[in-house]
Amino acid sequence: MSGTFVGMPAFPEAARAALADSQLRSNLAHATATIRAKRAAVVAEIEDWEELRVAGAAVKDNTLAHLDEHLVQLEAALTARGARVHWARDATEACAIVAQVARDHRVEEVVKVKSMATQEIGLNEALAAEGVAAWETDLAELIVQLGDDLPSHILVPAIHRNRAEIREIFVRRMKDVGRPAPDGLVDDPARLAEAARLHLREKFLRARMAVSGANFAVAETGTLVVVESEGNGRMCLTLPEVLVSVVGIEKVVPTWADLDVFLQLLPRSSTGERMNPYTSTWSGVTPGDGPQEVHVVLLDNGRTRALADEVGRQALRCIRCSACLNVCPVYERTGGHAYGSVYPGPIGAILNPLLRGPGVDAQVDSLPYASTLCGACFEACPVRIDIPTVLVELRAQVVDAHRPENRAGAPKPEAVAMKAAAWWLRSGDRLRRLERLSSAFGRVADRFGRRRLPGGRRALGRLPGAGAWTGARDLPAPPTESFRAWWRRTDGGRS
Ligand code: SF4
Repeated sequence: MSGTFVGMPAFPEAARAALADSQLRSNLAHATATIRAKRAAVVAEIEDWEELRVAGAAVKDNTLAHLDEHLVQLEAALTARGARVHWARDATEACAIVAQVARDHRVEEVVKVKSMATQEIGLNEALAAEGVAAWETDLAELIVQLGDDLPSHILVPAIHRNRAEIREIFVRRMKDVGRPAPDGLVDDPARLAEAARLHLREKFLRARMAVSGANFAVAETGTLVVVESEGNGRMCLTLPEVLVSVVGIEKVVPTWADLDVFLQLLPRSSTGERMNPYTSTWSGVTPGDGPQEVHVVLLDNGRTRALADEVGRQALRCIRCSACLNVCPVYERTGGHAYGSVYPGPIGAILNPLLRGPGVDAQVDSLPYASTLCGACFEACPVRIDIPTVLVELRAQVVDAHRPENRAGAPKPEAVAMKAAAWWLRSGDRLRRLERLSSAFGRVADRFGRRRLPGGRRALGRLPGAGAWTGARDLPAPPTESFRAWWRRTDGGRS
């Protein structure tokens, strides 16, 4: 079934492979342009959109500032309504809790409504190791799962697939795991949706246990909220006897009045709709109606680490709308797989390093550089996360984590060059000698440099140790005269 991101190469390498796939680029360009246009049209309808963004950011910041109190209130309210609340420090603890519930009920399969938190913790793989099959029921997630593929977008995980590819996946794989695709299936969207509906309905009616995420958790009443477009969430949340919801601790909002702001911001920013077709809410257990055993797993898995980062903590405002992905020039060309995580695009470039920490994993360390810093993500973000500023801060943290004094092994050429520069620049006498040397080198290079650049100076070729930097840029020869020598010679430009 679905693959995993474990062992993915760093962003530059993964992006190179993605850029070579012209079908992928064409699918992405078409899909992101369509979603962008829909979003722009419905956002333009709201006169106070900017005020709504400010309100969304303020609610999230205030909640994060008192997160401990809101979580305790949420736990108390959920418990009072018959739910069992579990606290999970990391992915291992969260998976163990869900697996234990499955074991207690001797279930062999669970249905899932799209939950990024369960993908983040690798729940499907953990349940498979226990002999429990986890079936994704969101249409795009189903396509990814049947295709042994990886999600590449927060909202549309199969955005990299076109309808011909989806038809082929359905015909080839549905029969192996349940009801086969209808005979003569064509790649018409309505026929493909019907095939998925028939295939999934069997699973909804059979499953005794469901696993969900939550878009929001209202602390004052202990209410979890899932918004979706296909009705699969409603099926998962009402039909099975047992429901387990895995919820990141940043999903809490204090009151229903606060929720109102996000129910306006989210659908317009994500699917480009005025409101979500399905908004499901539930609070614990209601006798004779819906699941009779409800578990809520409150997941940390690096979120408290992100909260401690003064610049980066704003990433925890994210409501996973995916607007930043759809406007990002890097994402549009590479797609989501290159980010090596269930959280791709600009938000993934900051959230993954914040959850994991710098200097731990080369792939994660490469993500803050996966951006042009153009700022389009900030403009689109409904909760005003200043992604470019966080990216720059994270780049500094990655550099710091790789300083020789902070890690074992041979220092990088860049670190050696910086140390040498610091030694030369610390003394005026040394700087004068360096300038003389540089000017002499500049005169030689000016004679023998490879070619003349605009402005008259010559370009040097590729420099050993400069890596890819000079592969894409001309390195100009040093000036034949230093600024201080010029100043002396011309009396500050007067002669
Ligand atoms: S960072 Fe902002 S734009 Fe991107 S997914 Fe999160 S809320 Fe949406």
